[in-house]
Amino acid sequence: MPRYSDYTTYLQDLQQGSITCVEMLEYYFGKIEESKSNNIYIEVFKEEALAKAQALDQKEGPKGRLFGMVISIKDNICYAGKSSTAASKILEGFVSTYTATAIEKLEAEDAIIIGRVNCDEFGMGSASSHSTYGQVKHPANPAHVPGGSSGGCAAAVLADTCLASIGTDTGGSVRQPAAFCGLVGAKPSYGSISRYGIIAYASSFDQVGVITHQVTEAQLLLDIMSGVDDKDPTTVDQNQIAKPSFDKQTKLKVAYFHDAFHSDGLDPRIQKESLQYLDQVRAQGHTVEAVPFEYLDLLVPTYYVLTTAEASSNLARFDGVRYGYRAPDTKNLEELYRKTRTAGFGAEVKRRIMLGTYVLSASYYDAYYTKAQKTRRLIADRMIEIFDTYDCLLLPTAPVFPWKIGAKMDDPVSVYLADIFTVLANIIGSPAVSIPLLSHDNDFNVNIQILTAKHKESHLFGIINSLQN
Ligand code: GLN
Repeated sequence: MPRYSDYTTYLQDLQQGSITCVEMLEYYFGKIEESKSNNIYIEVFKEEALAKAQALDQKEGPKGRLFGMVISIKDNICYAGKSSTAASKILEGFVSTYTATAIEKLEAEDAIIIGRVNCDEFGMGSASSHSTYGQVKHPANPAHVPGGSSGGCAAAVLADTCLASIGTDTGGSVRQPAAFCGLVGAKPSYGSISRYGIIAYASSFDQVGVITHQVTEAQLLLDIMSGVDDKDPTTVDQNQIAKPSFDKQTKLKVAYFHDAFHSDGLDPRIQKESLQYLDQVRAQGHTVEAVPFEYLDLLVPTYYVLTTAEASSNLARFDGVRYGYRAPDTKNLEELYRKTRTAGFGAEVKRRIMLGTYVLSASYYDAYYTKAQKTRRLIADRMIEIFDTYDCLLLPTAPVFPWKIGAKMDDPVSVYLADIFTVLANIIGSPAVSIPLLSHDNDFNVNIQILTAKHKESHLFGIINSLQN
């Protein structure tokens, strides 16, 4: 059991003086030591975090909304004076000169950043297997993967080394590891949180997301990080995420896709518990209806064509000249590029750069890239129609349970296919929260996702609150 699995209790203890920020932090440092073999942390910001905790313990006057909350961050989020490598050798030695806007906002509310955690290289993966620092292990079952790409974030929370963790979600990277670890994973609407200081994977899909024990903490963190940022022109001014916008007595209209809950690849136990959940929501008096959605099989291809295209362009900047690693002993510029990128990128990243370059190449551009843009539009239009009639959509999070370490290394396509339920929210830019259904003492948990229309986060959290009571 974690020392604290909710912020409210911890805050009360802080206020009553039964714990201090420094004591809390030292407890977490101890847990980081204990869980070392899980390969979660790449770097612990020991001195900086301690200095912040000491300052908070001395602080007089008004306290921030995250007072004393200890948070870890994914290694693709920049933090001033620290290395951020996106778990890639190509960024070896790169030290950021600034802090990501999202993290600055957390610190301004008195959060303590404890360190940076492992992930899949550039956020590309579903198991935290593709990292230059090696595989992250599931804290409750170390023979298994913790999910990915923000697997280090989920493992950090599950191993009780921090109260919350900040990751990124391009196609499910906070929601799927949250499911694999039985935690809450939340991604806001596209444009909600500034991407300034986030190492890009696929810019029109990437968003900052959170992994927490409680839904209320996810809501609080998203609320604080959201808002317009001059440094990211895609950010929008949206309604406050933490604003209560929902009358609990309201009976909801809930949509689901029949095929998503009856697909071949869905593990029978996940299916059973997810269908039971639909019944439970019905029993609460809400309307739960299957809606036609003809694009389920197009989600993964649309996502992988577009994200690999964007990745191939985003990753062109890592050439050995500007950032991080540079191959030694090269004779000319071309060789410098080639040797640097050959040694600097891992196999999965190379696979995606090649795929992305291919779909953008002159002869295939229309057949793949243009077509995927069109399917993205069709999917988004259909979802707008659905959200015009329904308050929310329920979807499984992952079709399978955490697999054994090493099990799927030779089968990338089966790993891509397992993203089927999470990529939708990123394709359409909507918010999505993955919540645990039941907890099984010796077994892996099942999570379900709730999605709403874009920029309806306060409504989404209101719905979850109502469904959970
Ligand atoms: N598993 C997906 C992928 O490999 C999602 C990753 C992410 O959200 N960063 O692309």
